[in-house]
Amino acid sequence: MAALKDDVLAALGKVSAPDGVPLPQTQKLSEIVTTDGKVFFSISVDAATVPQWERVRERAEAAVRAVPGVRSVLVALTAERAGGAAAPRPHRPPPPQRPQRGAPTGPPSPAGVPGVEAIIAVASGKGGVGKSTTAVNLALGLRDIGLTVGVLDADIYGPSMPKLLAIREKPETIGGTRLKPIERHGLRVMSIGFLIEEETPMIWRGPMVMSALTQMLREVEWGVLDVMVVDMPPGTGDAQLTMAQQVPLKGAVIVSTPQDLALIDARRGIAMFRRVNVPVLGIVENMSTFVCPHCGTRSDIFGHGGAQREADRLGVPFLGEVPLDIAIREKSDAGLPVVATDPQSEHAKIYRDIAARVRDGLRATSKPAPKIVIEA
Ligand code: ADP
Repeated sequence: MAALKDDVLAALGKVSAPDGVPLPQTQKLSEIVTTDGKVFFSISVDAATVPQWERVRERAEAAVRAVPGVRSVLVALTAERAGGAAAPRPHRPPPPQRPQRGAPTGPPSPAGVPGVEAIIAVASGKGGVGKSTTAVNLALGLRDIGLTVGVLDADIYGPSMPKLLAIREKPETIGGTRLKPIERHGLRVMSIGFLIEEETPMIWRGPMVMSALTQMLREVEWGVLDVMVVDMPPGTGDAQLTMAQQVPLKGAVIVSTPQDLALIDARRGIAMFRRVNVPVLGIVENMSTFVCPHCGTRSDIFGHGGAQREADRLGVPFLGEVPLDIAIREKSDAGLPVVATDPQSEHAKIYRDIAARVRDGLRATSKPAPKIVIEA
């Protein structure tokens, strides 16, 4: 491993910074992470010099890719103000709350991804509520109702897609610069987990997060997609807020368990998307009723119906409830999502119904405002 890192550094020595200094001597490189032939590092530069450095980033990536033993490489360009704080990015300032639906008003949205009709976020106020399981089964449900679907695993702190979809291979590159998403069950999938080992401890600073996300969004050959489902990192902190601002989202789906605490978190999630002008398509109540696999008795372990009530109260659609079922957990953790591997099951039907509501919600949010015709 150390040898590979040395080879990478040697290759980077042939790449020059805009002022002609070899890259390893610029003090701008992060630690170089190499795991199993996958290489990741970032270059931190002053925000004002980003355009010159983008070429350097590309050359660095190409140089590392040519090193024998390197299977994939991701170089993130991170912008810092001269003082060291994260640079302000060109983003929409959070507008005051606005009504959820209707014609978009206020500041412009981030540029869309060519060929991708709608990007939706699947988010949760906290971890462990089944956000990623919901994201993947929702994506498969959307596929089942006839849409072409991609999945972008933006949970860079704990990417789940390698496990949930049993993806071990690494993405191929196209023309040396763009990555090809991995196809699974008819979905096109990209995850930082394909490039970095799950166990690799990574310290992501804010700008690095955005740089990796932007690359996964814009430097991947997604092709034509009806919907891209983005599995967000759990929570409603700064990283999530920035992502919600920087990704051209058409809507967000909030996943919550019925527990009160999770619902408080869910409320924060809704407030976060509203702040950045992204319509909330609705709430999914996950791990709702528990059905005993032995006797068939239903128990409301975490209480039941809380998400429905909360959705009504907050004026957002309720998309459906997914039971707490061992079959979902086993399949999910074995990389065999229930909608793909047991399409006739009751669970698969629930996810397809949720998908249909999400599609309808998307249609409603993208309807143009009615024209006012004044008759003479
Ligand atoms: P998150 O993305 O919110 O952290 P995950 O999707 O990784 O959550 O799910 C956490 C755990 O809960 C996983 O082991 C998953 O298999 C399990 N799980 C998710 N939804 C259900 C469900 N409806 N029934 C049973 N287990 C579930």
